[in-house]
Amino acid sequence: MQGNMMDVQLTVPTILERIRTQYAGREVVSLLVAGRDEQGNPVPHKHRTTYGQVADRARRLAGGLLGLGLTKGDRVATLAVNSFRHLEAYLGVPSAGLVLHTVNIRLHPEQIAWILNHAEDRVLLIENVFAAMIPAIKAACPHLEHILVLGPTPQPIPLPGVRDYDTFVQESEALTRYPDLDERDAAAMCYTSGTTGNPKGVVYTHRSTVLHSLASAPKDGLNVGEADTVLPIVPMFHVNAWGLPYTCAMYGAKQVYAGVFADGRSVATLLQDEAVTITAGVPTIWMGLLAELDRAAQAGQPYVLGGLERLIVGGSAAPEAMIRAFQTRHGLSLLQAWGMTETHPLGTASGVPYGVDASSDEAFTLRAKQGRTVPLIELDLLDDQGQRLPHDGKTMGRLIIRGPWVASSYFKGEGQSNFFDLDGQGWFDTGDIATLDERGYMHIQDRAKDLIKSGGEWISSVDLENAIMAHPAVNLCAVIAMDDPKWDERPLAVVTPKPGQSVTHDELISFIAPRFAKWWLPDATVLTDSIPIGATGKILKRELRDQYRSYSSTQGLVTPAAPDRSE
Ligand code: AMP
Repeated sequence: MQGNMMDVQLTVPTILERIRTQYAGREVVSLLVAGRDEQGNPVPHKHRTTYGQVADRARRLAGGLLGLGLTKGDRVATLAVNSFRHLEAYLGVPSAGLVLHTVNIRLHPEQIAWILNHAEDRVLLIENVFAAMIPAIKAACPHLEHILVLGPTPQPIPLPGVRDYDTFVQESEALTRYPDLDERDAAAMCYTSGTTGNPKGVVYTHRSTVLHSLASAPKDGLNVGEADTVLPIVPMFHVNAWGLPYTCAMYGAKQVYAGVFADGRSVATLLQDEAVTITAGVPTIWMGLLAELDRAAQAGQPYVLGGLERLIVGGSAAPEAMIRAFQTRHGLSLLQAWGMTETHPLGTASGVPYGVDASSDEAFTLRAKQGRTVPLIELDLLDDQGQRLPHDGKTMGRLIIRGPWVASSYFKGEGQSNFFDLDGQGWFDTGDIATLDERGYMHIQDRAKDLIKSGGEWISSVDLENAIMAHPAVNLCAVIAMDDPKWDERPLAVVTPKPGQSVTHDELISFIAPRFAKWWLPDATVLTDSIPIGATGKILKRELRDQYRSYSSTQGLVTPAAPDRSE
């Protein structure tokens, strides 16, 4: 027997209609580039608008795009920073039945062209600060028929098909009747970072977007409501800024966008001036903020961040030392979350469980893990033979995931081996190595490709990095495998010290030794000025492994050149 409830389709226009009819007065604030100072650095200008205006312009954008002859399922790309215009595209493009394709602005122009061609984008919305790329993009992307430039340019770009976005929006008729949409229709797409092979397209549905927003907002998730002011530092080109533009719009939270201004001082100032309650970013952003908060406090002029309830951190592991530093030095709470492009991204969030004292060591240990699943998401662990492993908090295995906002394939059917059937159910292999404990807390140990296998046993580089980063002289640390004739691989710690500080290998090892088995401890430490960080804020370990390939059986402190193995 079937139930009798309505089969209402879960679609993005329902979110657009909510901001238009219920939250029209709620603000959207964006830092835009007003010009350049004498050193060539961008100078900010604060732009304020409302959800009512965003909704009106999103509907005009939708009407205008359909007026260009685009039809259902056509892709509209964005190469844009976080701002109200990008938000208009988030809402307007899918509401026209088109697919919003957010492209990572930090990629090499050739990779950008590859992605635009692979997705067969017909329209591109490009930020004025990247306008110089337009001729090259046009030449490399034959599918691209129209380019709309977001924000003013010093002079119009005299190329066919290129026009000003604001004028286009103002001159277009608003779409007032949305096309009939199936909730399984594509709403948005995003390419994976492609650290191995070509990037792969992940295509979100209207349904997955709506369900992800519903599941992200509750208290034990990201805790977003109408009274909140949310500053997503995480870029809107990266997994829909963790879904926050949609989640905030659905629940009526004020949105604040930092555009290109993501340094510690700009972020701290914006948090204070806009009375932000929730913000989200990768650990490197929070390290910059922590340094700025420390500096201001030491100078006797601390920022006033009384209303800031949580800083959401994800994308890479948040070291426990950082979580503690924010809490103890500034009374600020970091909430770790985990996910991937393929999972929309929210999979887990690491709150303190009921019954555990929030100030206890146990609470900090749990918060440094990636946490428990949000509702409707399932996780499991497999060994190399595909057998399920115990959830005992100790056994490491390949992390697999399933849920209504997890990809079931990639665009054009690529990368099929990541999707598989287990006991009649579809799962996705995350490529992460993790443990799960009896309470369901997931703890990432590594990306499978970054694992260090020493004498046949796995060593977690993430655990070692977090422990080393707790040392007061360490700024950033990456632990990678170096070849070893006896053990196959041994850990090598690559460390950037804090400005003006130094540290020895022996100091680091005695600092972390109480927490690890002896064979886990790095054999050598390299002190360096910089560690390469990729376009989505993650350490580029493959680059580091290439750089330190000649390090084999190295012991102790090596700085800065590779050991000479010629003798
Ligand atoms: P991306 O698809 O670029 O968002 O990258 C997803 C990957 O980032 C995951 O598979 C993890 O390896 C890593 N990641 C995301 N969040 C976390 C986290 N909180 N802790 C550790 N690793 C994370």
